[in-house]
Amino acid sequence: MNDILVIGGGLMGCSVAWKLAQRGRTVTVLERAIPGAEASSAAAGILAPGTECWDQPELFRLATESLARYPIWEAALKALNLDIQLRLTGLLHLAVDPDGLELHQRMAHSKVPCLSEPPFAVPWLSPNVRGMLWFPEEGSVDNRLLMTAVRSAAEQAGVRFVLGHEVQELLWDGDRCVGVSAHPQDIVAKETVVCAGAWTSALGGPLRDLGIIPIKGQMMAIQGANPCVTFAHGLGYLVPRHDRTIVGSTTEDVGFDRSLTAEGIAHLANIVHTTAPNLANNPVLEMWCGFRPTTPNKRPVIGRLGDRGPWVASGHYRHGILLTPITAELLSAMICGESPPTDPTPFTP
Ligand SMILES: Cc1cc2nc3c(=O)[nH]c(=O)nc-3n(C[C@H](O)[C@H](O)[C@H](O)COP(=O)(O)OP(=O)(O)OC[C@H]3O[C@@H](n4cnc5c(N)ncnc54)[C@H](O)[C@@H]3O)c2cc1C
Repeated sequence: MNDILVIGGGLMGCSVAWKLAQRGRTVTVLERAIPGAEASSAAAGILAPGTECWDQPELFRLATESLARYPIWEAALKALNLDIQLRLTGLLHLAVDPDGLELHQRMAHSKVPCLSEPPFAVPWLSPNVRGMLWFPEEGSVDNRLLMTAVRSAAEQAGVRFVLGHEVQELLWDGDRCVGVSAHPQDIVAKETVVCAGAWTSALGGPLRDLGIIPIKGQMMAIQGANPCVTFAHGLGYLVPRHDRTIVGSTTEDVGFDRSLTAEGIAHLANIVHTTAPNLANNPVLEMWCGFRPTTPNKRPVIGRLGDRGPWVASGHYRHGILLTPITAELLSAMICGESPPTDPTPFTP
């Protein structure tokens, strides 16, 4: 019998598998395609608890605890010669309309650490910008490098990857999940962990009841970069990488439709035009889309379904890169019967 089966080789699946293997468990990841090829590579890699979750206290706590672990993860991965380009050098939040200005008033009076301006000049900003806030502790990680690094760390820790294996449904013995149903033979395991991203609810049974749906985001990369992550309220964001800027994103409830649309492209172009016109004539290097795994309340589910069901880490919506370290550490501790590093109650399935 297998010890632990993880369904899905995205950032959640690989990270949970890595942390379980570090605890001495024997882990197999079942991935239907290429590890990390879905949301975990599509993301922009913004790490911004204040900007993203400032008005949701429980999610803000989880996100802040996760962000605090990033430098520790960076060091652990660096020790394996794996670089993730972590840049916690500040995030610029812009208001381009009265709604944005009003939001800034509320953010500035919240407990989130922010300043009225960055500690450097921002000559590239468009005259459309009506106000700004500076979040000095936030930033970004290169999520594609992170994905590769975590997968490699998991392999080095002994995790086995089975690629091209699409799980159709879970295997049950009464109300106990005992693995996955497969041909020619079922795969039995002591513990089963579901990290299937936006496809989690498609696995049926009680996973269907979690109501996880895909929310599509179209993205593009353009050549050149300004110095910091820039977030424009009501529009989108620009995330600098070494030679390029990631521009995102649309938020579309259209199922698993992978098309890049004229409307989506126009939206992304408008973000650049409205916030950083110095980049507007630069070549487009790449366009893509991805599916955010989204629960009805837009909060992640981390924990066990019932007393004997599968473990789940899914539904991280637009915060999955940010929430990766705490999710992996929390779920792996719970699976191994250790006391959880943070209160999991608000996120229990
Ligand atoms: C456009 C976009 C921008 C984003 N930007 C950010 C950001 O800036 N910051 C941030 O924190 N978060 C961001 N996110 C969110 C983040 O990317 C996700 O929350 C996170 O990557 C989810 O990781 P995951 O492992 O759960 O899902 P995925 O990366 O989608 O992985 C799921 C994996 O499961 C596999 N799978 C599914 N079903 C099966 C099956 N039946 N059998 C076997 N394998 C299966 C899939 O092939 C896939 O590899 C963004 C997301 C998108 C789409």
